[in-house]
Amino acid sequence: RSVPQLQSLSTADLSSILQDVQRRYDAFRQRALALDLTRGKPASEQLDLSSALLGLPGEDDFLAADKTDTRNYGVLQGLPELRALLAPLFGTVPVQMVIGDNSSLALMHDAIAYSLLKGTVGSERPWVREPRVAFLCPVPGYDRHFSICQDFGIEMIPVPLNADGPDMDVVERLVGEDAAIKGMWCVPKYSNPSGAVYSDAVVERLAAMTTAAPDFRIFWDNAYAVHHLTDERIEIPSLIDACARHGHPHRAFVFGSTSKVTLAGAGVALFASSAENVKWFLGRMGKRSIGGDKVNQLRHVRALRDTAGLLALMDRHRAIVAPKFAAVADAFAAHLGGTGVASWLVPKGGYFISLDVLDGCARDFVKAAKDAGVELTPAGATHPLGQDPHDRTVRIAPTFPDLATVKVAAEGVALSALLVTTSALLAGRGVTT
Ligand code: PMP
Repeated sequence: RSVPQLQSLSTADLSSILQDVQRRYDAFRQRALALDLTRGKPASEQLDLSSALLGLPGEDDFLAADKTDTRNYGVLQGLPELRALLAPLFGTVPVQMVIGDNSSLALMHDAIAYSLLKGTVGSERPWVREPRVAFLCPVPGYDRHFSICQDFGIEMIPVPLNADGPDMDVVERLVGEDAAIKGMWCVPKYSNPSGAVYSDAVVERLAAMTTAAPDFRIFWDNAYAVHHLTDERIEIPSLIDACARHGHPHRAFVFGSTSKVTLAGAGVALFASSAENVKWFLGRMGKRSIGGDKVNQLRHVRALRDTAGLLALMDRHRAIVAPKFAAVADAFAAHLGGTGVASWLVPKGGYFISLDVLDGCARDFVKAAKDAGVELTPAGATHPLGQDPHDRTVRIAPTFPDLATVKVAAEGVALSALLVTTSALLAGRGVTT
């Protein structure tokens, strides 16, 4: 059943819709379910796709292509054959890439810590010696990026994220006038949580813009570079190349990992940038470690074989994940389509959908969903300091539960959103429910 544009209805018609929604919501709640759509974890069926890793490289297989013994210390930058496999997917070349820990978040954290303590290429002084350090945060965004800034006392300046990337008029103005802005978070493809994909024009403007800070860095977290949900494998331009072309060769810090390609927490992570930045990063990293886990790197090479092998694996992930996203999109379209009280992008990749409800309704919506047995990420988590000034955006993570569960949960989510927004519309007209 479809609901009409709610704002335009008479109060009597709206009240009768609310009664109907309340009845359906109550029926759902009475099922007393306990469903969880909070975190973007791969389902165990996806992890099974990489079971072979658990037996690799095998007792007799420990030599890298150049005969390096992976069981021993060394090769700080990571195995060249794994860098060669990953580089084309992240818009770089193997020599401009470092394979680091098991987690890209750890590398982002380190890049910030190094910049704060030591400064980075082109810094006048370590960032901690600056009177203020600020990062631009396109919103909605990833809560763990914001937590790093919060933890280090970095000021966060929200900028609107549209379907094709951040509002560049705002970004250009801010970075042009405020030298305290040293960085900016970007999830350029299938963004967490809205699914936005940066357009070529946005990438170009990010690379070209003039910044007041000489050592401004774009933290390009391409976490979902290969996580397509449709036949269209969307490609975005290389930020590293674009920055070099515009005379800002050191602006791009690129991050990625195989957390959602192979095993989350037991994958490999990467940093890519200009040759000089890579040297800078390795200089710091070499104090922290004698070398990464090359045995893990080697087993990744054995399991994935080559770039095409990795993309073929991602097709198998897609077969598992895409129906779950379709279930959510279908439930939203069925219950919320055309109502004018909620909006969302149907993502073409990544791990999340975000639902924007009427201003002031997100917290109540999350609470209503919880009461109905569906746990959602807390409202506000998509914004710095957990504060969504419009109380509007809610992140939905449909990958972890099985498909049947996602279908039911999506129904509960859509009913909760409809209930809360309809009540809010009536309250706005002085009708308390
Ligand atoms: N960046 C983004 C945008 C993410 O969504 C996630 C996982 N939720 C990560 C980074 C974490 O990646 P890793 O496991 O490589 O630390």
